[in-house]
Amino acid sequence: MKKNQPTILSGKPAAAGIGIGSSWILEKESQSVKPVKIQKDEVQEHLKKFKVAKEVVSREYEKLKLLPDDYNALEIIDAQLQTLNDPEVAKGIKAKISENNYAVDYAIFSTFNEYIQVLEKSDVTWANDRTIDIVAIRDELVQATRKNKTELTVKEGQIVFASEIPPTVMVELSHTQIAGIVMEKGGLTSHAVILSQSLGIPCVINVNWKSSKLKNGNNAIIDGSTGQVILTPSWKQTQEYKKRKEEEVARLRRGLKWAKEPNKTACGTEFTLRANVEFLEELPRLKTHGAQGVGLLRTETLLFEVHEFDVEDQVNFYSEVIQKAQGESVTIRLFDAGGDKLLDQNEQEANPFLGWRGIRMLLDKKNLFKKQLEAIYRVSGKFKGQVKILIPMVSVLEEILEVKAICEIIKKSLSKRDIAFDENLQIGVMVEVPSIAIMADQIARHVDFFSIGTNDLTQYTLAVDRGNEKISSLFNSLHPAVWKLIKMSKDAADQEGIPVAVCGEMASKPEAAACLLGMGITELSMNTSSLPVVKSVLCTHNHEEMKILSEGVLSAECAETVHKLLEEWRAV
Ligand code: PEP
Ligand code: MG
Repeated sequence: MKKNQPTILSGKPAAAGIGIGSSWILEKESQSVKPVKIQKDEVQEHLKKFKVAKEVVSREYEKLKLLPDDYNALEIIDAQLQTLNDPEVAKGIKAKISENNYAVDYAIFSTFNEYIQVLEKSDVTWANDRTIDIVAIRDELVQATRKNKTELTVKEGQIVFASEIPPTVMVELSHTQIAGIVMEKGGLTSHAVILSQSLGIPCVINVNWKSSKLKNGNNAIIDGSTGQVILTPSWKQTQEYKKRKEEEVARLRRGLKWAKEPNKTACGTEFTLRANVEFLEELPRLKTHGAQGVGLLRTETLLFEVHEFDVEDQVNFYSEVIQKAQGESVTIRLFDAGGDKLLDQNEQEANPFLGWRGIRMLLDKKNLFKKQLEAIYRVSGKFKGQVKILIPMVSVLEEILEVKAICEIIKKSLSKRDIAFDENLQIGVMVEVPSIAIMADQIARHVDFFSIGTNDLTQYTLAVDRGNEKISSLFNSLHPAVWKLIKMSKDAADQEGIPVAVCGEMASKPEAAACLLGMGITELSMNTSSLPVVKSVLCTHNHEEMKILSEGVLSAECAETVHKLLEEWRAV
């Protein structure tokens, strides 16, 4: 018999961790609900069925409250319970039963549908994710009236493949130690995702797994940190991921202990570790994982979720992030749309990563740009000294000068309206295009800090599209060419006396972080999951060892040598 070939699928990483197991497909029961009419003498019976169903579903959600609450799961459950107990919804359902004489399931189904329609028209950021949750309540109530709730047959160690997962199904799943969740739909802010983070279940969303020939019981691997899903992996792939998983578990266990320790190497050299943040849901981890504020706040995701992102909305979002940073700084990166993150699907370009992206687009869309700057300056007035601006995708000096000129216009306009702002708000530049690293000595004179984005710096230095799977083996941030550009940027910054941070993925690899610290880069920003492990490695080594490592890396002639040096360093 011919064996299944491995199939690699990509999705959005939603909850970190590696899962290895057999697949279990969550079939969504089709909810065929017809507008069946009842007799007058059946009304009381159907009203009672509604009452009982509500109690049953309510109890399911109350059970959810017993789960750990590191990620605001309680807020989610309360939101679901609120919807469930909404008096207006109940009134609508009861009226449909007693006045229109519809059967209870149709009364529930149609009332919730009307509610969903209102929500979908409302154009608010969270509407989409919320719709999924309200559909879940609707279906659970309908099921409860029919008393045909099927038990989940999922077993420990299996990977759940679903279109989407309602929160109450997550409760059932939580009783079984599943290895991972792969969903076709769902936003990063959907409750299923937040709950999977809370439960520590690796999760990848937006995976088109239905187009594969996946069957129940097929072997699968999920990497919740990269968004990769491998169906019917080879023996070699399975062994490789098993090893990675063992390492991950051991590292995390060791790492979390370090979160509260001072940020110092074994010999006392101080460093700063900040978080890369994109969603509000990530904020509770700043504290638990030991981040000193936010080194990179990606703002473009917000822009994609709404059509008109006004100043007030932005002020609220930025303020919420800053409040959670507990007095530490928050570096707000200006919208970095374009590349693979298109604002408008009509704006397709032949080479999007070399095209209308980041600051290039913002300087053409002045209205949008000025709104964002106004929001940031206004927030800086409320949190003086805590806010910084970071300009993405800069390739020439003129772009920086133009941004600064527009900032002056915004400041004047705010002064005229007596709106407070931080006069000393720092403006930094992403070093992610090689021209900026090469010209770093000149550029450093015009900015307050550098933040090195190694993801793009790698793609532009090695001419490798970071999203193209066919050449993914060529995408290597550890290539000596990238290290050399980092060093040039650091030296130029030192000469001008401005600080340098690294906020690309490179910083989240412990050995690479040690090497950066060895080069004198004492500020690193990374995804929160990586913080504890990186910190544990930095705290347990001497700065001198890191310096020696960086010297070796900077004189390596190819990426393989760098890999070896880093591996050997860690093993010692
Ligand atoms: C980078 O390019 O390294 C970076 C941090 O930015 P992004 O990944 O958002 O492009
Ligand atoms: Mg970038």
